[in-house]
Amino acid sequence: MIRPICRHVSRQLASKRPSIPLPSLTNSLRTYSAGAAPSSLAPQPFKWEDPLALQTLLTEEELSIQETAESYCQERLLPRVLDAYRDENYDRAILTEMGSLGLLGSTITGHGCAGVSQVASGLITRAVERVDSGYRSGMSVQSSLVMGAISEHGTEEQKERFLSKMAKGESVGCFGLTEPNHGSDPGSMETVAVKQEGGGYKLSGSKTWITNSPISDVCLVWAKLDGVIRGFLVERERCPPGTLETPPIKHKTGLRASLTGMIHLDNAPVPEENMFPDVTGLRGPFSCLNSARYGIAWGVIGALEDCIARAREYSLDRKQFKGNPLAKYQLIQKKLADASTDAAYGLLAAYQLGKLKDEGKLAPEMISMVKRQNCDRALEGARKLQEVFGGNAVSDEYHVGRHVANLFVTQTYEGQSDIHALILGRAITGVQAFV
Ligand SMILES: Cc1cc2nc3c(=O)[nH]c(=O)nc-3n(C[C@H](O)[C@H](O)[C@H](O)COP(=O)(O)OP(=O)(O)OC[C@H]3O[C@@H](n4cnc5c(N)ncnc54)[C@H](O)[C@@H]3O)c2cc1C
Repeated sequence: MIRPICRHVSRQLASKRPSIPLPSLTNSLRTYSAGAAPSSLAPQPFKWEDPLALQTLLTEEELSIQETAESYCQERLLPRVLDAYRDENYDRAILTEMGSLGLLGSTITGHGCAGVSQVASGLITRAVERVDSGYRSGMSVQSSLVMGAISEHGTEEQKERFLSKMAKGESVGCFGLTEPNHGSDPGSMETVAVKQEGGGYKLSGSKTWITNSPISDVCLVWAKLDGVIRGFLVERERCPPGTLETPPIKHKTGLRASLTGMIHLDNAPVPEENMFPDVTGLRGPFSCLNSARYGIAWGVIGALEDCIARAREYSLDRKQFKGNPLAKYQLIQKKLADASTDAAYGLLAAYQLGKLKDEGKLAPEMISMVKRQNCDRALEGARKLQEVFGGNAVSDEYHVGRHVANLFVTQTYEGQSDIHALILGRAITGVQAFV
């Protein structure tokens, strides 16, 4: 149920739908809900695009938002992705375009955000990642990790000052948790904040592998103040030269269509009012990461679905041995069957997380379970489907190699899969195995 304050932007999401025809995939999925009610006993035709009929679970509003997102991604993002990936270049205008459609911080209510359901936001991330995980990463960091953090932990004044500009994509955010010496173990971070006599703080330290950092207007930096982790909104325009540097990390082998960089802080000044007032310790960064991990659980299945659709089409076109299409061979069919099963299960699990999240019934371990499983299965499935393309898989024009390289990163960031296994193991046994 969308609250009234959001109706206006959520309608705007639907009305700003580009006038271009919807991609055929979305059209075909829509027919699920549009058809006449079938007899409950009659076997229904199997739809390979939506094997377990996720579409039947979605509200009209969610279907409409899905259409908007799929349409934008297929018509506006897909044509740019090959050049972006080749040149390791992220078009800053993408965030403004997403903002104008209401796709940024979409679950937040007020401050110009759409206030849509968690399931709707999952459908958006799935649509974006169907094109590229890097595009989804840029959006997720802005939406879940920075806007989500400000919405959850910020003061009213911080929300007023930052959220609406970020929702429009006028201001870009990044989330600085990982450090050169501390990734899976962020509690050992070395970045420090020192309180100044005249008020405010000065931050020093380095963060690495930070999505969006080179173009960020505001860096959410997690640093220790008197030994306790706190969140600070570091505004680039308020930092004198030499106190804040955000050099890009180049020559990546995955996620090349997103920008990644470092954050170097050398006594960077942060005014008093830019610290999150109440949240302390790892609860701060982990609460934002939970939302982003929820988005990843949907997103990676979008990437896998793209691999399935492309491998299916290729296997029907490509002929080997007596003019038979590859699709005629059992080993090829098994690869498609395995990947489709994982995608369908993954979507239903992500949908369940979304419903529970909206109802406030979500345990963080549930997110660990689905983020881990969906990332692992998407990487494995994409990698297997890559084989269907033979030598052509090496050409970026077939897209599958790009997804495989990206999916390695999604399995690694926001808690590498083995770390999520340890989180689950701790929840199952009550015994901590991290150290
Ligand atoms: C493209 C990209 C974008 C990113 N964006 C961001 C961002 O925006 N913000 C941010 O803060 N970070 C970001 N990251 C960082 C990412 O979250 C970290 O890379 C990740 O948390 C893993 O940390 P690490 O690389 O230091 O690996 P390490 O912690 O060194 O781990 C290396 C390996 O050891 C394993 N391992 C570690 N500890 C244990 C243990 N106790 N038991 C068993 N195995 C263990 C891990 O599972 C992993 O397989 C990004 C990374 C990439 C590659």
